[in-house]
Amino acid sequence: MKPCIICVAITGSLPTKADNPAVPITVSEQIESTQAAFEAGATIVHAHVREDDGRPSSDPERFARLKEGVERHCPGMIIQFSTGGRSGDGKDRGRMLPLAPDMASLSVGSNNFPARVYENPPDLVDWLAAEMQRYGVKPEIEAFDLSHILKAHEMFGSGQIVGTPYIQFVMGVKNAMPADRNVFDFYVQTVQRLFGPDAPWCAAGIGRHQIELNQWAVAAGGHARTGLEDHVRLDRDTLAPSNAALVKRLVDLCGRLERPVADVSEARSILGLRAA
Ligand SMILES: [Zn+2]
Repeated sequence: MKPCIICVAITGSLPTKADNPAVPITVSEQIESTQAAFEAGATIVHAHVREDDGRPSSDPERFARLKEGVERHCPGMIIQFSTGGRSGDGKDRGRMLPLAPDMASLSVGSNNFPARVYENPPDLVDWLAAEMQRYGVKPEIEAFDLSHILKAHEMFGSGQIVGTPYIQFVMGVKNAMPADRNVFDFYVQTVQRLFGPDAPWCAAGIGRHQIELNQWAVAAGGHARTGLEDHVRLDRDTLAPSNAALVKRLVDLCGRLERPVADVSEARSILGLRAA
């Protein structure tokens, strides 16, 4: 069975210490939490940064300190910065790309979020994709909708996205695509039809759908994301004690479903990234 890449989304823009005291907010907390998750089996860290008071930030200086700490404490781990829309407006969202992380998230279309529109206008999408290419940053396409997979394919065809395409299905965000099994299966089929049967893909379930999407993705041969950004609980009654605990649960799931967990060199090779 092909190895499963585990991505840990450590912080996000929304969860607070009041939701779960284990959410890492400061850069030093983020580095510590990432190291524990790395030691538990995660090979990609997906990161947002925050102001010390917890507000979302797109401050490149914070991203730079985080990158330096993760490189020091987690050798070879794939660093992925978020260019998501909750951390800033317009081109602010790409201010950290000159730091040349391995990867960055890229949303290629708009959709609704729980209480707002998630705006990704075409000119901004084009600019973010061009900046990623300029600095050698591999995009992870965030598919909140089927149309985003087809848009990614169009961008791949036009040369706006180069290298091994990597799509992540995001399901379970209120007012966007729910965690719907038939849609998930069609997403997988669509990626395989457009990008080839071996094209890597990943899935993230938001809120209580986290574990469900982990199960679907691992069983279907995809890669999987977990972390406190997506859900602060292990189950209805239990807060997740750490990002590492969520990673461990996913490692255990891979074991039950007979998927080996990718190490950093396997993960880099699957994604077409330079060796560490
Ligand atoms: Zn994120």
